[in-house]
Amino acid sequence: MVILKVADILRESIVDGKGMRAVVFFQGCPRHCRGCHNEQLLPFEGGRGYTPEALSAEILQLLTPLHRGVTFSGGDPLAQPEGLYATTSLLRKARPDLNIWLYTGYLFEEVMHFPVVADIDVIVDGPFVLEQRDISLPFKGSGNQRIIDVKASLAARKVLEAEL
Ligand code: SF4
Repeated sequence: MVILKVADILRESIVDGKGMRAVVFFQGCPRHCRGCHNEQLLPFEGGRGYTPEALSAEILQLLTPLHRGVTFSGGDPLAQPEGLYATTSLLRKARPDLNIWLYTGYLFEEVMHFPVVADIDVIVDGPFVLEQRDISLPFKGSGNQRIIDVKASLAARKVLEAEL
């Protein structure tokens, strides 16, 4: 059985993607970006264990008509790709229209072949680079990161940034 390690789940956020969103913070990230905003989420030890069924059910019960969607953050959600894919498959089955964002330290080109990626609407990719930190940028921490329209990018086989 796949168990996902989750550090925290926020009912409402307006800074982790467009509109009001529930946010799942995954526990564990293999990267150690200098100036990481969530250092306590880097170890893979800790957090709460969730099956994909339990996690998808908790997300669905948090969503209200005011929610635009859900965001997966961390940590790095793509460090747990199988459990995440099982979770997004359940979410897509229950709510095909659900808007899903995901933050990852990987580059899109490194993960675009992961099955879970096709279930995501928008990926904010790339590590946090302290020298390129810019607090004026919406929904990202440093200038190197890209806010990617996943479906358009997969269809075009090249990175296309989302219109905000
Ligand atoms: S990818 Fe994100 S969570 Fe991981 S070390 Fe970098 S800033 Fe922190």
